[in-house]
Amino acid sequence: MSLPEPVQHALVRVSHSVLIDVDALAGVRERFDDEQAASLSGYLRSAQSPNTVRAYRSDWIAWAGWCQAEGRQALPADPLDVAVYLAVAADTVKPDGSPAFGPSTLERKSAAISAVHAANGLPSPTRSDVVRLTLRGIRRTRKAQPQRKRPVLLDTLEALLAERPPEGPARTRDALLLLVGFAGALRRSELAGVEFEDVTVDVDPRTHEPLLLIRLGTTKTDQTGKHQQSVVLPRGSRRPTCPVCAFADWTEVLDGKEIIETGLHRCHGYQPGARQGAVFPIINRHGGISAKAMSGRAVAELVKRYAVRAGLDPAMFGGHSLRAGFATQAALGGASDREIMRQGRWTNPRTVHRYIRTANPLEDNAVTRLGL
Ligand SMILES: [Zn+2]
Repeated sequence: MSLPEPVQHALVRVSHSVLIDVDALAGVRERFDDEQAASLSGYLRSAQSPNTVRAYRSDWIAWAGWCQAEGRQALPADPLDVAVYLAVAADTVKPDGSPAFGPSTLERKSAAISAVHAANGLPSPTRSDVVRLTLRGIRRTRKAQPQRKRPVLLDTLEALLAERPPEGPARTRDALLLLVGFAGALRRSELAGVEFEDVTVDVDPRTHEPLLLIRLGTTKTDQTGKHQQSVVLPRGSRRPTCPVCAFADWTEVLDGKEIIETGLHRCHGYQPGARQGAVFPIINRHGGISAKAMSGRAVAELVKRYAVRAGLDPAMFGGHSLRAGFATQAALGGASDREIMRQGRWTNPRTVHRYIRTANPLEDNAVTRLGL
């Protein structure tokens, strides 16, 4: 958190949130509504829109209420108090964990305090460095931490990827296998059955970023393609977890070329050559690549092996299916049922709910409200 040190220090003694209780709010209204709020809106009427005045008024009430609860003085205000107030407001979260106030609302709160000071002929406390730096710190912190939680899925994938052998064709094949199998939520049989004809490198029409499109379920009995399913794997933001780069690497290894891991993406503009056969062939202990595809069982065992090496619960990965691992980990990462069902091609929400309950037993659970 990039807040100025005096603000951090003063935060320690704060006991109340900005969201004050109803009784305190009523008390504040009694004190401020008639005199100060009326004079405030009088001064501002010609300069500000009614909406702004209304917002300023409730902002002032909230500030005054906070000062009352903290035993601080609202007018004239100590700049450090204003900075702490804004920092506390920035840290206030809604029940779903997202911030209660956006940066522009916090700027408005600051502007409201400034306006009331101006209306009373007092210098503005918000012009001081400590307030300006606090608002800047809030803006920067918010920018650095997007609202969405980083999916745990990615952490897990990275942990598995880190356990690959340092060299040899299995290193490259398994990177692709883990990325596709896990992020694509594939059944082990689906993963084992992927052929090069099923894989297309396409471009996301919105971002123009490359992506992998993998057709599943092309069976001999399904010539019409009506029940064909596909999963899409977008380009990874970082090289080690980029499925498109992993695919490009693997085709190159199959062509007998050596991969130099530079850490730079190679997926932009990548066009695979025509190729047939199993994407995930058996590799023997001497690094010989067979033409035969791995079995579904071998895929599951491989993932399980990596999970064990990475210190993860193998039951969650290889044994049952990669899909369970995907759903559980995606749920832990905050993905919605709908999002999980879409990638995993689940049609029954109950299946997904089972994984989510395993992942996050206390979420949406009344037991957390017992006050134990
Ligand atoms: Zn890439």
